[in-house]
Amino acid sequence: MHIDAIKNGIVIDHISAGRAMQIYDMLSLDKLDCPVAILKNVPSKKMGRKDIIKIDCDLQIDLNVLGYVSPSITVVYVRDGVVAEKKHIGLPERLTDIIRCKNPRCITSTEQGIHHVFRLVDPAGGVYRCIYCDAKAEPQNR
Ligand SMILES: [Zn+2]
Repeated sequence: MHIDAIKNGIVIDHISAGRAMQIYDMLSLDKLDCPVAILKNVPSKKMGRKDIIKIDCDLQIDLNVLGYVSPSITVVYVRDGVVAEKKHIGLPERLTDIIRCKNPRCITSTEQGIHHVFRLVDPAGGVYRCIYCDAKAEPQNR
């Protein structure tokens, strides 16, 4: 695979250095049977160092979770070898089953099969709270 020449796919750019594998796992990219390239510690003017993931196929997955892992991320959509769209993801309003509520008395802890849903309450600080019990989520390291 020539990593610069994606025909139809996406490039996940400006990932905070060291977080590419977390995103790889989160998006279950190991289940894809198309070429996936992970570039780590790429020099970046803006960020010092960054990670990049290139996926050479059409991907039908929710990419909003990416903003939670690394709010600096841009997703570049490539169609027929040219950039069709660039999208800055940012912090998602809601996280469903991305993080788990740690409150032992929360309904998500006491009952099975309930989605762990957190909402963004402070976009500047990146603070999320459980929609059931209002417990604060552990902040991500940036
Ligand atoms: Zn909770």
